[in-house]
Amino acid sequence: MVKPTKADLTKYKTILKQQLATLKGDVGSMRDEALRASDQDASVDHLADQGTDNYDQGFMLGLIENEEETIQLIEEALERIDGNGDWPFGVCPLCDEEVEAAKKSKDAKKVKAAAKIDPAIPKARLEYLPWARYCVRHQEDEERNRESA
Ligand SMILES: [Zn+2]
Repeated sequence: MVKPTKADLTKYKTILKQQLATLKGDVGSMRDEALRASDQDASVDHLADQGTDNYDQGFMLGLIENEEETIQLIEEALERIDGNGDWPFGVCPLCDEEVEAAKKSKDAKKVKAAAKIDPAIPKARLEYLPWARYCVRHQEDEERNRESA
């Protein structure tokens, strides 16, 4: 498994902090705008626009929700980089669990299969999504679980 180097970590940290600042700024201004839109709804002058305003407000609040989720993921990634996270940065915890479970099972076949699992999240994925929690395979599993929940 290829661990991110110190230089990589510094780079990811810079990217994450920038993204965090951008998102926090966005959420703040979007929330202001959404609230302004609801003020306008209350005034008679804008009754004709109410339909669009409500639509816009819902749309913006939806964006805020997604952004807040991303902010949370970024904050968790920063904690992992600083060594304060729930698992090491750049490692897929679910892959790690699979490897550990296989080791404990003492089933030779499982141990052999687990030896092929690389819990490290590929560099290409981290460069694209430094806040990724899981490898692509487990990310897809998680999304499928969420959809069926
Ligand atoms: Zn994984």
